[in-house]
Amino acid sequence: MIPEIATAVQTASTLISLTKEAKKIADSLKQAELKAMLADIISAAANVKLELADANEEIVRLKQRNAELEAFEDISKIIEITSGSTILKEDYRGIKAGTYLCPACYSAKKILVPVARDVSHAAKCPHCGSSAR
Ligand SMILES: [Zn+2]
Repeated sequence: MIPEIATAVQTASTLISLTKEAKKIADSLKQAELKAMLADIISAAANVKLELADANEEIVRLKQRNAELEAFEDISKIIEITSGSTILKEDYRGIKAGTYLCPACYSAKKILVPVARDVSHAAKCPHCGSSAR
């Protein structure tokens, strides 16, 4: 369960318990206790509202991340990884097919960073600085 939602559920349970207690007190007509209990109920309800707002933000963030991961899957179909080299198989967003990419950036950050390649030397990635082959 998403932590913010778990906290909201826990607080909602507390809210229900407080409301049940308030009803018992209301039945026995103890006004001072009833007022204190109502203040606790209002406070708990306010917390539920804040926790749900936090949970909503988290869900929006996760949906965005999910969309990024789905986009990454599409990119993975046009990448060829052979003996340590990461090569673009088709033209993609201005990067020509056959371009060597930084394998570290591709696997860790899911981004395509072209690296200049010399036949005899490994190139340094301009983004992360690792040696790309
Ligand atoms: Zn890199």
